[in-house]
Amino acid sequence: MDLNYTDDQRAFRDEIRAFFKDKLPARLSAKVAAGKRLTKADYEEWHAILNARGWLGVTWPKEHGGTGWDAVRRNIFEEEITAAHAPRIIPFGLNMLGPVLMAFGSEAQKAHYLPRILSGEDWWCQGYSEPGAGSDLANVQTSAVRDGDHYVVNGQKTWTTLGQYADKIFCLVRTSREGKPQQGISFLLIDMKTPGIEVRPIVLIDGEPEVNEVWFTDVRVPVENLVGEENKGWTYAKYLLTHERTNIAGVGFARAGLASLKRIAGEQVHNGRPLIENPYFAARVAQVEIDLMAMDTTNLRTIAAAAAGQAPGAESSMLKVKGTVIRQQINALARQAVGPYAAPFVSEALDEGSNVEPVGPAYAMPVTQTYFNNRKLSIYGGSNEVQRQIISKTILEL
Ligand SMILES: Cc1cc2nc3c(=O)[nH]c(=O)nc-3n(C[C@H](O)[C@H](O)[C@H](O)COP(=O)(O)OP(=O)(O)OC[C@H]3O[C@@H](n4cnc5c(N)ncnc54)[C@H](O)[C@@H]3O)c2cc1C
Repeated sequence: MDLNYTDDQRAFRDEIRAFFKDKLPARLSAKVAAGKRLTKADYEEWHAILNARGWLGVTWPKEHGGTGWDAVRRNIFEEEITAAHAPRIIPFGLNMLGPVLMAFGSEAQKAHYLPRILSGEDWWCQGYSEPGAGSDLANVQTSAVRDGDHYVVNGQKTWTTLGQYADKIFCLVRTSREGKPQQGISFLLIDMKTPGIEVRPIVLIDGEPEVNEVWFTDVRVPVENLVGEENKGWTYAKYLLTHERTNIAGVGFARAGLASLKRIAGEQVHNGRPLIENPYFAARVAQVEIDLMAMDTTNLRTIAAAAAGQAPGAESSMLKVKGTVIRQQINALARQAVGPYAAPFVSEALDEGSNVEPVGPAYAMPVTQTYFNNRKLSIYGGSNEVQRQIISKTILEL
């Protein structure tokens, strides 16, 4: 297996770099680099720039307005997005629902929804989890009962990321209680403006209302919003999760975090010397960098296999665990590096144009917020404990 990039792939990387240099607004990259809070308008602005170039549907085939890129090109693009400090692409419409509609949606659904995902007319959120259905997703209880040409939906979703911005939500709902729990689940598209929907913010440990509860009380949803067949939603849900787990290793994010950690440790002074020259601290940074390099190689091996048509197996679980642990270790080292400046967390200072003075150096300002926020990495997208179970069963055969 050759893990080196071809001339073609290197030229592709140069093309992306040149585009970002030219088109990524300096205001946006400055916000991302400084760890400032991004608004809905910021994401929409960046999505529109990528869409105008035809580079928003990164995982989509050309026939639906996507790039048609293979796994290697997608990986290069993702690395360059983080290296350029560009806003991330919000995945719910693009990487989750889009592929499901392409595979299982009706022609009318594809024609209506896919262009609106690219144009940004519809901001989607993901209504999978419920208070009793996270790792055990098949336990979904939100019910959808057929009433003429509508379903009537009642129940509650939770942890709905950026649901406060969303125009639409794709939901797993229970349409039958017969047989195994997996056999009674359907996949429904719901307009967030439908009467009976209430979005309640959940404020996370970092102070951000990034996730929500979404409550449904007698919400009437037209039957044409059902994706595929009734009670077959589990198949579509699992298909979506394989797409949710693209770029699972987050190598680009880890690299950006490591570069920022090294900058911080180069500026912080410990016993009269830059902290990065402290042998104990330097050894810990070196260890995490070695782990990252090893993971990068595993990631490239998986990508090369995917480009050759092999479906990733338990490797994606290994990359999920390793990638998230590495990022959390980098965040923890950054928090330790800024020492007492990690304590005074001033949320308002993360807003663009805020005149709140950061306590300590500017680079210390987002460190605590990032540290807290990234606790989520080992929980969502399939918790790390669950991934370890998969590894122990499929690789170690325990
Ligand atoms: C920031 C954030 C954003 C999210 N965004 C969304 C979203 O937009 N849409 C959405 O639908 N969901 C979202 N989620 C939900 C996420 O998918 C769930 O939190 C996740 O699946 C875990 O489920 P749970 O929280 O119910 O925990 P539980 O499943 O109750 O797990 C609790 C603990 O038990 C462990 N555990 C569970 N089962 C096993 C097992 N079999 N073996 C070993 N250990 C086990 C888990 O690892 C965990 O430590 C988000 C979560 C977070 C934190």
